[in-house]
Amino acid sequence: MEHIAVPFGADGLREWRKGADWRNYMRGWNGLRKADTRLTQARYVRYKDKKHSIIEPFYKGNTDISMKRIHNGKIKTFIDDEAGITLQELDELNYQLKQSAKLLNIKIDDNFPRVIVTTPNKMGNFSKSKMALGNYEAISNTLYVNKLLLSFESRMELLRSGDVPVSRSKLSTIVHELYHLLDARAYSKKYGKITDQEKYVKDIIKISKVKVDELEEKRYNIMDVSSYARKAMFLGRYDEAYTEYRTKQRLKNIKVEE
Ligand SMILES: [Zn+2]
Repeated sequence: MEHIAVPFGADGLREWRKGADWRNYMRGWNGLRKADTRLTQARYVRYKDKKHSIIEPFYKGNTDISMKRIHNGKIKTFIDDEAGITLQELDELNYQLKQSAKLLNIKIDDNFPRVIVTTPNKMGNFSKSKMALGNYEAISNTLYVNKLLLSFESRMELLRSGDVPVSRSKLSTIVHELYHLLDARAYSKKYGKITDQEKYVKDIIKISKVKVDELEEKRYNIMDVSSYARKAMFLGRYDEAYTEYRTKQRLKNIKVEE
């Protein structure tokens, strides 16, 4: 259920270049960069227990993740020991989580996923072109967040490199992942607790295919949603394509400050 960062492709890049938003980004980027150099020392988040790390298999299963819980109000938040985030990045995380949850009418309560902020390396399986910015794992109700999503500088770097999903909103990653959460909630309400991640994914692909078919019957071209949606369609990942469609629709007229 990854929101994989894929290159724009020629069409996406052209769209971006046409967009006024992009030029605004560039202006903001240049201005902010100057301001950034004036910042002297970054302050890092406070851990609940500085010594105690929890170690568990990472969702991709080929590595372990060692992390510590931080103080973060109602949101159960863990930071990968290799990631280390600043207070500013924590603010950004909370902003994106709260705004995205609000847009999807999701309450931040005990059922909200635990959040793990991790490194680009882990999210990319060490391959930049396939790097995910977020991932929601239904069986453990965990939302993984790539640290790169949390700073303006790294988001702009991703935009320039072309290794990001085609989207003008910085909320698109979390909104996308929260649609996966809503799907998982609807599924377990109907079929009971999710105990087999693979079976769940197979089922949700089937359920999503019905939705994709409905859109295609209405002559909606889901391939045009994003390059990621197009790739997902080719791979038969209708869950991802349908999630991209919903994310795009939801964020259509939402203006988000960078
Ligand atoms: Zn996804």
